[in-house]
Amino acid sequence: MKYIIKHMLMHKKVALWGITLKTIATLAELALPLILEHIIDNVAPTGSLTMMILWGIAMILISVAAFLLHINANRLASLVARKSTLGIRHDLFNTTIRLSAADADRFTVPSLESRITSDTYNIHQFTGMILRMGIRAPILLFGGIFVTVFMDPVLTLVMVVLLPIIACSVFFISKKGVPLFTATQKKLDKMIGVLRENAVGIRVIKALTKYDYEKRRFDDANKEHVKSEKIASMTMASVNPIMNAVLNIGTTLVIFFGAYRVMGKQMEPGAIISFIQFFTMISTSMMAVTRIFVMYSKASASANRVAEVIETPESLLAEKIEDYPCRSREYHVEFKDVSFSYNGKINNIDNVSFALKRGEKLGIIGATGSGKSTLIYLLMRFYDVDSGGIYIDGRDIRTYDKETLHKMFGVALQNDFIRNGSIEDNIRFDRELSREQIEKGSRLAQARDFIEDKEGGFDFVLNSKGTNLSGGQRQRILVSRALSGDPDILILDDSSSALDYKTDAALRKAIFSEMNSSTVFIVAQRVSSVMQCDRILVLDEGMPIAYGTHDELIETCEIYKEISMSQMGGEVE
Ligand code: ATP
Ligand code: MG
Repeated sequence: MKYIIKHMLMHKKVALWGITLKTIATLAELALPLILEHIIDNVAPTGSLTMMILWGIAMILISVAAFLLHINANRLASLVARKSTLGIRHDLFNTTIRLSAADADRFTVPSLESRITSDTYNIHQFTGMILRMGIRAPILLFGGIFVTVFMDPVLTLVMVVLLPIIACSVFFISKKGVPLFTATQKKLDKMIGVLRENAVGIRVIKALTKYDYEKRRFDDANKEHVKSEKIASMTMASVNPIMNAVLNIGTTLVIFFGAYRVMGKQMEPGAIISFIQFFTMISTSMMAVTRIFVMYSKASASANRVAEVIETPESLLAEKIEDYPCRSREYHVEFKDVSFSYNGKINNIDNVSFALKRGEKLGIIGATGSGKSTLIYLLMRFYDVDSGGIYIDGRDIRTYDKETLHKMFGVALQNDFIRNGSIEDNIRFDRELSREQIEKGSRLAQARDFIEDKEGGFDFVLNSKGTNLSGGQRQRILVSRALSGDPDILILDDSSSALDYKTDAALRKAIFSEMNSSTVFIVAQRVSSVMQCDRILVLDEGMPIAYGTHDELIETCEIYKEISMSQMGGEVE
């Protein structure tokens, strides 16, 4: 909740102005029954029509003024709600994009999505409501009680005795609501997860005609969410019948005792009419307070989920250089006894060591799941190694600040993404690159020809995920992004798998002849993609089983030889 308050305080001037207008309008509302009582008990008996009309006009004017003030106050309330939600969403998004890969894995992407959309929406609803009803309802409630105490303390007592019953039930039920709404949001995460998978895998689903299966899966997730929402809402809804029963008993008692007191001349008839009006006002404001509590439970569950992300401490910060001894600057990139595990149980990278001089090219090959991409993630410090160290220019990568480190890389990650925008934007990706650099990158990536064939060339607009490109074209856009700007370290993770052999060969030729100053990592399944590299690392279940040149490995590594033979047959020898 503190984030909600913090962000609302950022707009305190507008909020205060809105609260002031709301307070005046509500006080004006409170005055209306008093005027009515005055007309019935004091003005009507005098028989003065003029006075009656004047007081009537006064009532109308006050009502209109209250109405106009409420409208303006509500506008200001939604302005504050909008702006504070904007701020919360902004903070949440900023934290989300700086989350370490391990933290993002822990939260899961669907959950982060629903926190940014649905949870902030709940917060938005609550902020608006608290500035509208949160001001009006308590004023009417306590103001009503205050005025009625002066009108008739005995009758007020009847009413006041009932209020704690309502307050207690509201309190306990809303307390139960927070975990129930948290559970509901978790079900929503799950539903979004299924939805995302469907959106991503729409083509496979179509191809395999898995509509029914996917429909059922989504229906299940949807039903679970609705069920959870139902439990939470039904629990919260039980407040209403309890409150209605208590308030109806209250009204009956007020009328009963009121009539009794009027008959005994202890009360004027005008007072009882006005009293009942106040009582209705108090009841409706009590209902509004209840609604606020329901919203509070929901918003509080959502606010906790938002805070959980925002309060995640920034991990993988730059460490002190003194704590990490430097190594020889002879090598540009060095892995020294590196081990890493995602789950802390089985090593996904197990004791990997190698060293590359500036400009050298390393090919990484291995079966699927053998840890090739993980090795790249460690080099880019998406995750920290569990033991050993990775060095760039002799300095442990943990001592570089993230920006400096990431600026060294040009990368095309496996399943990297293309966003909706022009080809040029997708290649530039918000970096300071000239058009020449982009053109050079795309030429080396063998993408120039097809880009020029597209309508508008580099201005051709790509769909999100590049769905209006072929697989091979998509890969070449990603490779163009990696190659543009002559990066210090170039990483191509499975970036040529969709290219035909000829294009793949042309790409390799371009990299080997023109990217002399870049140290290059090529991750591939095909031996042909890595065989010209200065060194090749063969991984098997995270373990480095061989390291050397193509010729050396053909001699010494049986597995490598087998892969080569199966892929290239006689060409190997
Ligand atoms: P491929 O050729 O299919 O791309 P790879 O060699 O790149 O495979 P990695 O992606 O590095 O393999 O995965 C190595 C192992 O780590 C696999 O067993 C995989 O299941 C596991 N793994 C990968 N990413 C995660 C993650 N975020 N959380 C937990 N385990 C993971
Ligand atoms: Mg991989």
